[in-house]
Amino acid sequence: MGRAADVLVVGGGPAGRALAGACARLGLRTGLVDRAPDRPWRSTFAAWADELPATVPASAIASRSRGRAIARTERPLGWEYTVLDVDGLRAHLDAGLAGVTLHRGRVLGTHRGPDGATTRLADGRTLEAAVVLEASGHRPRDRSAEQTAHGTVVDAHAAAPLVAPGEALFMDWRPHHGEDGWPTFLYAVPLGDGTVLLEETSLARRPGLPLPVLRRRLAARLDHHGIAVPADAREERVRFPVDGPRSATGFGAAAPLVHPATGFSVATALTLAPAVAAALARSLPGPPERARRAARDVVWSPSARAVHLLRRRGLEALLRMPPATVPAFFEVFLGLPPRHRWAYLTARDDLGAMLAAMSALFARSDWSQRARLVAPALLPRSGPPWSGTGGSAAGTRATTR
Ligand SMILES: Cc1cc2nc3c(=O)[nH]c(=O)nc-3n(C[C@H](O)[C@H](O)[C@H](O)COP(=O)(O)OP(=O)(O)OC[C@H]3O[C@@H](n4cnc5c(N)ncnc54)[C@H](O)[C@@H]3O)c2cc1C
Repeated sequence: MGRAADVLVVGGGPAGRALAGACARLGLRTGLVDRAPDRPWRSTFAAWADELPATVPASAIASRSRGRAIARTERPLGWEYTVLDVDGLRAHLDAGLAGVTLHRGRVLGTHRGPDGATTRLADGRTLEAAVVLEASGHRPRDRSAEQTAHGTVVDAHAAAPLVAPGEALFMDWRPHHGEDGWPTFLYAVPLGDGTVLLEETSLARRPGLPLPVLRRRLAARLDHHGIAVPADAREERVRFPVDGPRSATGFGAAAPLVHPATGFSVATALTLAPAVAAALARSLPGPPERARRAARDVVWSPSARAVHLLRRRGLEALLRMPPATVPAFFEVFLGLPPRHRWAYLTARDDLGAMLAAMSALFARSDWSQRARLVAPALLPRSGPPWSGTGGSAAGTRATTR
């Protein structure tokens, strides 16, 4: 055929770089196309420490801390929380791109046929490959459920009333922001450089809770704890969908590998990249369709599809919960034995563990909560959220960063 590449990866975020590097290491002729390949990564990427593959070097880790969470009462998570050093992670992934052909350009679309795929770029070029996988990030759509957050970075000693050295606060649902309405929590993680990110977070809402509401609540919460924020403090804004459509050729957030209960996808993408590359290497050269299916089956095994469906049901249940009951729900969740919480938060391909976690959650819930947990299996997607503070999302649209 004389194709230029076995594999073309669209999108050079953490997922695309990890996948392209893994393919090249297995001897596949690999291309990577990104509309802005040199753009630095600005988001704070975090993950559960034990979820990260062992290949992630120390230079890509900014901090490790004991995780704790507060719903109605305070509890240790029982495992460590890692904030990634984005520059270190990028350098690590870039070192793995030797042998990958980098293309700069905006992809308009890909046509797939029995002999391979042709990807069209906005500048008129086309790129040919046996298999094209999209790692082009979140794919917002109409009426996406979105995670939104507004954060600020302060010195660790200033954040001490909320997070002690060596600790990360995964969730603090106490209503110290002083508002009724859509429930939000504080997320507070040490960044490893003597500073702490304090972020008021709406786990999911359709559409996302407007950022000005989160900004206002964060200011009130920090004021409640006597934490002063310097005028020039760095800020972080978060908005991305947590219910993107499932894609047979997507990877990373585009798959979507995003866990709807945390918004995390980076650790999963880093873990899955070598397995997807291995499936491609086993199938190529060979019919492109077979190789494409082999890659898809790694990401979306029957068990992974079932877990994905259950996670989505869990998301819909959360979106329907009357706001005042959400902290009580998390009190039950955080009180589960660690193995069940761990399975719910990480086991994307273990249906048995997921079902056991959901059964345990159901068993410990009261009857009204149980009814809310089963409702999404019977009802259509949730409508607009409850009214009240933060109930109106006028003027916001789903835009990824
Ligand atoms: C502020 C913030 C904080 C976050 N924190 C976390 C966290 O702690 N942990 C976590 O796991 N996730 C976190 N996320 C979610 C995060 O977005 C994703 O998990 C992560 O960026 C997904 O990586 P990715 O490689 O799949 O996609 P992206 O990082 O979005 O990369 C997509 C790439 O594709 C390129 N691209 C897109 N469209 C095209 C096109 N048409 N043509 C060419 N190139 C294209 C883009 O330029 C980009 O480089 C956070 C998100 C935000 C916004």
